[in-house]
Amino acid sequence: MNHCCGKSITDVFGINVFNDSVMKQRLPKDTYKALKRTIEEGAELTLGIAEVVANAMKDWAIEKGATHYTHWFQPMTGMTAGKHDSFISLTDDGRAIMEFSGKELIKGEPDASSFPSGGLRATFEARGYTAWDCTSPAFLKQDTAGNMTLCIPTAFCSYTGEALDTKTPLLRSMEALSKQAMRILRLFGNTTAKRVITTVGAEQEYFLVDKKLYQQRKDLIFAGRTLFGAMPPKGQELEDHYFGNIPDRISAFMAELDYELWKLGVSAKTKHNEVAPAQYEIAPIFTTGNVATDHNQLVMETLKSVAHRHGLACLLHEKPFAGMNGSGKHNNWSMSTNDGQNLLDPGKTPHENAQFLVFLVAVIQAVDEYAELLRLFAANTGNDHRLGGNEAPPAIISIFLGEQLTEILEHIENGEVRACKQNGELKIGVSTLPRFPQDATDRNRTSPFAFTGNRFEFRMVPSSASIAGPNIVLNTVVADTLSRIADRLEQAEDFHKEVQEYLKETIKNHKRIIFNGNGYAEEWIKEAEKRRLPFIKNTVEAIPHLISEKSVYVFTKHKVFSKTELYARYEILLEDYIKQINIEAVTMIHMAKRQIIPAVIKYTTQLAQSINEVSKIGGISPAIQTKLLKKVTELLETFDTGLERLEELLSKVDQSSENHYEQACYYRDHIFTAMENLRKTGDQLETLMEESLWPFPIYSDLLFRV
Ligand code: ADP
Ligand code: MG
Repeated sequence: MNHCCGKSITDVFGINVFNDSVMKQRLPKDTYKALKRTIEEGAELTLGIAEVVANAMKDWAIEKGATHYTHWFQPMTGMTAGKHDSFISLTDDGRAIMEFSGKELIKGEPDASSFPSGGLRATFEARGYTAWDCTSPAFLKQDTAGNMTLCIPTAFCSYTGEALDTKTPLLRSMEALSKQAMRILRLFGNTTAKRVITTVGAEQEYFLVDKKLYQQRKDLIFAGRTLFGAMPPKGQELEDHYFGNIPDRISAFMAELDYELWKLGVSAKTKHNEVAPAQYEIAPIFTTGNVATDHNQLVMETLKSVAHRHGLACLLHEKPFAGMNGSGKHNNWSMSTNDGQNLLDPGKTPHENAQFLVFLVAVIQAVDEYAELLRLFAANTGNDHRLGGNEAPPAIISIFLGEQLTEILEHIENGEVRACKQNGELKIGVSTLPRFPQDATDRNRTSPFAFTGNRFEFRMVPSSASIAGPNIVLNTVVADTLSRIADRLEQAEDFHKEVQEYLKETIKNHKRIIFNGNGYAEEWIKEAEKRRLPFIKNTVEAIPHLISEKSVYVFTKHKVFSKTELYARYEILLEDYIKQINIEAVTMIHMAKRQIIPAVIKYTTQLAQSINEVSKIGGISPAIQTKLLKKVTELLETFDTGLERLEELLSKVDQSSENHYEQACYYRDHIFTAMENLRKTGDQLETLMEESLWPFPIYSDLLFRV
């Protein structure tokens, strides 16, 4: 089924979005202007305005075929949620009419009791609020059956005002960054910009497997990754998949995916095969951080639903197949003024260069000072399988700048670039700074945080997670270094000299974070240790950094998280880790007990029967069967011991324990290790068994049959 043939992109792009042009067309001039002021400058929105907008939105949605609306929000499950209400309302004489009020647009009151809150929401006070985020446009979502729902992006918080979602802190962090970046811009004489926005483009990697095969694997269904599976004869060693020819079936899927995303106003642009077999990538054109985050959620949801329609299953897990490359998300990030000046663009004049250097160095300083937080916001159980393997950045945060820029920073540090007088005005002497064509920076795929000409690319982000987290932390820590520079520069007697001093000092203090070499190499780990860069190996190790002094300082100072919210999120992260590993362990036990062991027994029975029958003939020895039977039986015993061990460890978990950190450590150190051991034997058994007897599809089926 391909809905998209014969339509041009411009015909479909944004047709299901209540976007600027629709608003301009449908709203009275005054209302439109007032709403724009709210969207662009954060001006307060009155109920009167909301009333008019709600009505126009409803009429537009109904004309397009919508019957329902929902406050679309992003609880701390990493996914989106919404309660669907129809527009129906009854008149006094019992007729149905379609209504949608300003109040309903602005605020919703979903029951919050079933969403993670980390103890923020006592169960007796289950009320939660959703509040309209007018900076992200409302859109219509259509399910496969054709039902249309008006989705209104909202923030989700508790009765007492604490954030219960990922959007609220993201908006707060964007606000914080704008405030501090504006101070710097004013110092550089910019009087026209009204705010600074963060721009984000998220490249999304994913796997596609045949749905019928997917449905036969409990591990894919419940854990999103294979818990057993031996390597196929061919993996990715021929490097023949990356950018390779896209098979027809996948191509049809991608065409419909693009089409569905375009309708939602998501500017899907790039698509290609990725490194592993059955792995692909999609990237939209960048937009504001907030909208990009909403769009990435839509990309993930649409990937799944379109795959479903094409008899495929989309895997967003970070490591669905052991031994193959996993998936990540590249979060391209920059800062821009509301009138479109990219603050990480090196620019052409010395003056622009100085401003660029301040922003650049502020990012370098922030990444070095808060590396643990960046690492934490890129951690999840899936990424634990990936970071540090030779396919993804190591678990150490470092920055790639490229040779040219690194050299310039070295010159500044050594005082080789001096303030010089130009046109009678003292300018920071960076006129030696060459103009960079955008692609002057070389490519380095091994760096977790790379400057790519006019933006940074954070490459550690997990493929299945919301990009809100990484952006919240980036915005906040950069806001923090910018605020400290602004404090300093605002006091300076000689602004340009102070800028020069700041750059020099900061480069000297933070250059240890810059690394242009091969991040996959062993030597880098040693070198990073010498530089005393934090090396945080897994999620459990990362989580406590959320409630460290540094974290509480930076998030509360910039009003992104309160201390209570941080502690709540700390609990949620730990609980999430525990639950996920627990689901994996239980699924594994299920597969081992009810699928693998019975299948192996069947096989051994077959072998035993063969031995008996062959022996009866006389003169022929069933030696091979005997050898195999012995080997398989021995392995089965080891497998069973491993299974018992895993069950025993699981039964020892103290369910009543309030100490989630300790429990998470137990899961990581014992349960997880026992799972790895069980898998090893399971995979050996798979390679010994007759293929048709193996109880579920194997890697060659999953990866090479599309
Ligand atoms: P590559 O794979 O070479 O890194 P892609 O074209 O796949 O590049 O993705 C690059 C992403 O970076 C795109 O989503 C693009 O829109 C985004 N991008 C470009 N400029 C900026 C910017 N100033 N801020 C944020 N993202 C940007
Ligand atoms: Mg890419």
